[in-house]
Amino acid sequence: MKKALVVFSGGQDSTTCLFWALKNFDEVETVTFDYNQRHKQEIEVAKAICAEVGVKNTVIDMSLLNQLTSNALTRDDIEIKDGENGSLPTTFVDGRNHLFLSFAAIMAKSKGIKNIITGVCETDFSGYPDCRDMFVKSLNVTLNLAMDYPFVLHTPLMWIDKKETWALAAELGAFDYIREKTLTCYNGIIGDGCGECPACKLRSEGLHQFLTEKEGGKADVQQ
Ligand code: ZN
Repeated sequence: MKKALVVFSGGQDSTTCLFWALKNFDEVETVTFDYNQRHKQEIEVAKAICAEVGVKNTVIDMSLLNQLTSNALTRDDIEIKDGENGSLPTTFVDGRNHLFLSFAAIMAKSKGIKNIITGVCETDFSGYPDCRDMFVKSLNVTLNLAMDYPFVLHTPLMWIDKKETWALAAELGAFDYIREKTLTCYNGIIGDGCGECPACKLRSEGLHQFLTEKEGGKADVQQ
């Protein structure tokens, strides 16, 4: 029985990972981190998706992150914007992914789960150092040593861009579901979102490219 734990936020990427996990593992459950993100709704969306898909979801309180640092995802008074002149975007939280994966690993081991899946990606890399492949591989070794347990961290989206993430969703038979039910938007609008925030722009550009190529592909076949 191959078991997996998906680090799950209810967004496009982690929902694609959830469907990927359901295809590749016998038993799947999810963990969602509550760090007082701007939109509590994110937690509700994550719970709702897990209930619909029929996987267990555990929410872990990570509000301690806000005692350590402040950023635009957790504070209403900080504007969300892209990094300028090589600086990180205001949504960056130092070490967030590092902590999430470490907490997920502790939980996974307690449940006899070796496989941990995360939707981090180096392709649309906004400069978050703990989303890079090198970091995930390094942490994998560290976690195995820390807990004397053979964890395998899986990153199905690491080398694909948003267009290819949509293509993967389609391949997994989950394209419409992910398009309609997930929350990526920083302004808390489910599905295609507000269309204005950096997360929506990235998501909709990829979606547009995917749909354009798909249409193009169909046209090629018809000729
Ligand atoms: Zn948006």
